[in-house]
Amino acid sequence: DTPRPTNFIRQIIEADLAAGKHDGRVMTRFPPEPNGYLHIGHAKSIVLNFGVAADYHGACNLRFDDTNPHKENVEFVEAIKRDVQWLGYEWQNLYFASNYFEQLYAYAVELIKRGKAYVCDLTGEQIREYRGTLTEPGRDSPYRERSVEENLDLFARMRAGEFQDGEKVLRAKIDMASPNINLRDPTIYRIRHGVIHHQTGEQWCIYPMYDFTHCLSDALEGITHSLCTLEFEDHRPLYDWFLDTLQTPHHPQQIEFSRLTLEHTVTSKRKLTELVEQGYVEGWDDPRMPTIAGLRRRGYTPAALRDFCERIGVTKSDNFVEMGVLENSIREDLNRVAPRRMAVLHPLKVVITNYPEEQTEQLEAPNHPQDESQGSRQISFSREVWIDRDDFMEVAPNKKFKRLVSGGEVRLRNAYVIRCDEVIKDAHGEIIELHCSFDPATLGANPEGRKVKGVIHWVNAADALPAELRLYDRLFNHPNPDSAKDGKLWTEHLNPDSLRTLTHSLVEASLASAAPGEVFQFEREGYFCLDEARREGGMPVFNRTVTLRDTWAK
Ligand code: ATP
Ligand code: MG
Ligand code: MG
Repeated sequence: DTPRPTNFIRQIIEADLAAGKHDGRVMTRFPPEPNGYLHIGHAKSIVLNFGVAADYHGACNLRFDDTNPHKENVEFVEAIKRDVQWLGYEWQNLYFASNYFEQLYAYAVELIKRGKAYVCDLTGEQIREYRGTLTEPGRDSPYRERSVEENLDLFARMRAGEFQDGEKVLRAKIDMASPNINLRDPTIYRIRHGVIHHQTGEQWCIYPMYDFTHCLSDALEGITHSLCTLEFEDHRPLYDWFLDTLQTPHHPQQIEFSRLTLEHTVTSKRKLTELVEQGYVEGWDDPRMPTIAGLRRRGYTPAALRDFCERIGVTKSDNFVEMGVLENSIREDLNRVAPRRMAVLHPLKVVITNYPEEQTEQLEAPNHPQDESQGSRQISFSREVWIDRDDFMEVAPNKKFKRLVSGGEVRLRNAYVIRCDEVIKDAHGEIIELHCSFDPATLGANPEGRKVKGVIHWVNAADALPAELRLYDRLFNHPNPDSAKDGKLWTEHLNPDSLRTLTHSLVEASLASAAPGEVFQFEREGYFCLDEARREGGMPVFNRTVTLRDTWAK
């Protein structure tokens, strides 16, 4: 393996190891909330967390951060597990933050006993009001000085279900005048009745908040480096406050890095959920979605996504990345590994008039021009073949047009040179068929005494398979639909032409045995992945993963 590029987090870890910090161990975790599918931004975090664990002989846990039961469910849990494994990673342990609810409750009781937490009766609205602003200190809650006994009693009764949602919360007692608003007595428990938690069912009606749960879960698992995104930088003092105040056996170190933002898409679960729920896309795994499941269905490989995450790097500065960078990762991988096949997107019939009517011959076609180890396949050839409409013009529009023209010659890829002798049109002047002749001396050989530069792909009419081809374009027209600042809703930037469906395409017969998820290069057209779905009549569906060349250039 080539050594991975270093980054500031790797440097911190190496320094910690050299100094013997954390007993010389490296333990990380990937902590998704199961309230949606994983997206390309999560891939960055997964590659970082599992990557450093592997490289420094440590381990990484998968931990579901499941403290918001009304938005979470088991479908999301299962999808996340599948996606992490598909990316090529194995977790050391699978945990749920809800595994720790009993311990977290005990920690909260301990905070109360030390006079570091209190039950507050202010409403959510009032708590916000009392909290103050960046320029104005907060004010103490009238419930701040409740006695330890009263707080213990009220907290036990919160757990027992004696109070309504919102009637009371438990708050840490820190500093209402702190310049960091996160330290102004943050809420650590709230009441939620009537939700069935996907793991704990109806066992609890109080739920711990993220900031309280996360640091303690990290400590309980012996995490050494807790890597998270930059919006948690201001929460780090709170993270440390809980761990210092509770004197946990272990004190993990929180380190923040910048979120990935990919152009022409969105990577907020709230917005992705809206795309799914409002029917803007077919589902979480729609091939236009920046989800891992969508990218997989589109034909992306785990290797390409890992490569992309290494390329974009890990820093604290903005991480806006062009779609072209992601596409180059998959293009490079597929160029190496994808077998070549022929498919005609817009078929035009060619009759080879001097080819015997009843004859079919088998031709050998290499699966990969630069990789002999991929072997070859047989393709059949006979008197009638289909070529692409775009590969024929009656008169060449310019010198660059190296395809077939009236009276001109072209090579059929892996087969013979043909000449167009006659163009057949219907009553409206539409070209419906070409009559050509072939030169039998040109199979695998240059024609005698003349140069034929153009090579076009084709399929054999007798056994070509009808297929549906789905061509995808950017999901949003605007590079930053999230922050366009042009007064439009982000959904108004959706590209109405992000999916073009071709239902009259033809693919070579060998693709009958392709497996769903397999990706091919359709020569001269792009990379295509066989979808799980089939159209009525058994017609296979291929998703275009990416075009052969970068089409994003501005
Ligand atoms: P969202 O805003 O999409 O809901 P989130 O951070 O709330 O994102 P989580 O499921 O909590 O989603 O994320 C799990 C982990 O993945 C966290 O550590 C988070 O920081 C990281 N992560 C999420 N989005 C990105 C991103 N765009 N770039 C890098 N890391 C990310
Ligand atoms: Mg989160
Ligand atoms: Mg979230």
